Amino acid sequence: MALMINDECVACGECEAVCPTQAISEGDPLYVIEAARCVECVGFHDESQCAEVCPVDACVPDPDHEESQEQLKTKKEKLGL
Ligand code: SF4
Repeated sequence: MALMINDECVACGECEAVCPTQAISEGDPLYVIEAARCVECVGFHDESQCAEVCPVDACVPDPDHEESQEQLKTKKEKLGL
């Protein structure tokens, strides 16, 4: 399941720097996660890095993008990562 950034976001930018797939960008007014690039950090880290660093717990599972671990691994490969 990709993650999403909810409206608790304080736009600190901590998440953008730690994402291994460059899925996060500064939106207006909040940061956004591009679901097509988020692999929930599978293959990179044990925990989702954006959720780990977010000071207000704004990086949460996106119910509109449910994916299995296998699907996330395939997604990572398709991204060439
Ligand atoms: Fe990037 Fe990982 Fe957060 Fe997905 S869960 S947006 S891959 S840091």
